[in-house]
Amino acid sequence: MSTTPLNAPAIVILGKGALATARRIQQLYPQALIYGLAGRVEDVDRRYSEFGATLRQLYQQDTPIIALCAAGIVIRTLAPVLLEKGVEPPVLAVAEDGSAVVPLLGGLGGVNVMAREIAASLNTAAAITTSGELRFGTCLLNPPAGYALGDLELGKRFVSDLLSGESVRVEGAAPWLAQAQLPEDDQAQLAIHVGYAEREPSDHELLIYPRNVLVAVSGDLADLADTVKAALHDSRIAVQALGCLLASKAEMANPALHAAADALGVPLRFTTAGTPADMTRQVLPQLLPPLTPAAGIAIAVAPQPLEVEQIGCARGRLAVIGLGPGATDFMIPAVKAELARANDVLGYETYVRMAGPFRADQVLHCTDNREEMLRARHAFELAAEGRSVVVVSSGDPGVFAMAAAVLEALHESDNPDWHRVDLHILPGVSASLATAALAGAPLGHDFCVMSLSDNLKPWEIIEKRLDLACQADLALAFYNPISRSRPWQLGRALEIVRQHRSPETPVTLGRDVGRPAQTLRVITLGELRPEHVDMRTMVLVGSSLTCVFPRTNGESWVYTPRWYGAKPT
Ligand code: SAH
Repeated sequence: MSTTPLNAPAIVILGKGALATARRIQQLYPQALIYGLAGRVEDVDRRYSEFGATLRQLYQQDTPIIALCAAGIVIRTLAPVLLEKGVEPPVLAVAEDGSAVVPLLGGLGGVNVMAREIAASLNTAAAITTSGELRFGTCLLNPPAGYALGDLELGKRFVSDLLSGESVRVEGAAPWLAQAQLPEDDQAQLAIHVGYAEREPSDHELLIYPRNVLVAVSGDLADLADTVKAALHDSRIAVQALGCLLASKAEMANPALHAAADALGVPLRFTTAGTPADMTRQVLPQLLPPLTPAAGIAIAVAPQPLEVEQIGCARGRLAVIGLGPGATDFMIPAVKAELARANDVLGYETYVRMAGPFRADQVLHCTDNREEMLRARHAFELAAEGRSVVVVSSGDPGVFAMAAAVLEALHESDNPDWHRVDLHILPGVSASLATAALAGAPLGHDFCVMSLSDNLKPWEIIEKRLDLACQADLALAFYNPISRSRPWQLGRALEIVRQHRSPETPVTLGRDVGRPAQTLRVITLGELRPEHVDMRTMVLVGSSLTCVFPRTNGESWVYTPRWYGAKPT
């Protein structure tokens, strides 16, 4: 009975010596990613530079951690974040050679289950130290997916009573306990009670609720979450047994429905419109007629915990994300989470590769860089089917990239299914900002961002904007400065800039910033030639106040002061 953790585990290694064991564990959890220390081990899914920061971030993101190193290192590293309330993913230390598996944290997140699974795959034994688990062969406080524990504190007391030698009865269907070694006795005072009915908590019972109750609602009900709770209570059904909220597809984007599902802690699924009773019959036709305790509500009880993925469909999700310039350290955590939940990933092949690695179940749709509108429409088609879709851009998706194309496609569409998709734009570090940071602060004062590509705008407007931006003495950031099909444009643009700026004006050239081939050059406007630049280069031209001074490594710092005119005293 494995409790599948929500997030794919991270297998963290410090050196090459652990790679073989890491790969064996990855075979057990194919979705897991191997994290390796940069410089020490290359052939991994993710490289990190700081062990401590990486481990703490994974922990705080609720990612199960399998660290192939000494338990002490893991304990010391995570100690500062342990006192914070919040998530506690499973954390295990595994000996580099696979000879020992030590579950450390996350008893309620199934760490012992994972420890046993890993130990079995490595032909060793897990160092289980949880007494209840040792004695009974299962963690009673961690029922499998589809079941909810009534109360953790009462539960802990119940387990210590059991450990002190009491016997126990099992009431109701608890298939996962079949293999457990419980001191069972039909006459026992203590009982494990599994059922969906409301029940008063008691010291003598461990209450476990199957999540087998489906509630269909119409979204116009007032105080939806409270109304659902009241309807369940009136029907003597425990709110913990609620497995899923169901509503009509037409109401997919209704915020009140999503707020209610969040408040109740259950997923929200959708089906064709109808009365609530009709809706439950559509998704669970084999059940008896539902209860209808109030207008706008129907309650259906299934014999087993609900299989939520089989009930109607989810609201589709579309996220347009920015990868940042390249290095994963510069990618915001929300983007990493979005990539992890994606069913489909769309984008220009280079960027899709950069966003990986992906799991076998994730579908990649790589397209040519110029097919932006087709890609945007394809993304909506997939999301409208209820899938979780990611469109990738490099840098920031709103800077000469996919976000505007996706919004344009939506704006042009009168398909209600597209408009109901849960659409998010997640920012990234744009190339101009990543390049500026490498050089110092060349964009430290007002600046102007331009694409020099005349593919989607007339060249005249580019010349006009350049001229005006130069007149305004703005620092300039040029995207798409040159390409094979646009060979002369940069030269012409520089002619315009030179009419306004002196030849000493600092120019920063960042190429492949944040990627393995990164280069940074600081030259002057007088020296700048189109040959210095290609389509993977970011060009930052200073204002009249931008200055340069040497740094200790032989290169230079560039900055544009925060003030303008005379330096404030
Ligand atoms: N959305 C991207 C920009 C796309 S336009 C962003 O916000 O960064 C493509 C242009 O961006 C390229 O021609 C180049 O000028 C610049 N660029 C993108 N990534 C870069 C990188 N890693 N290093 C330098 N320039 C880059």
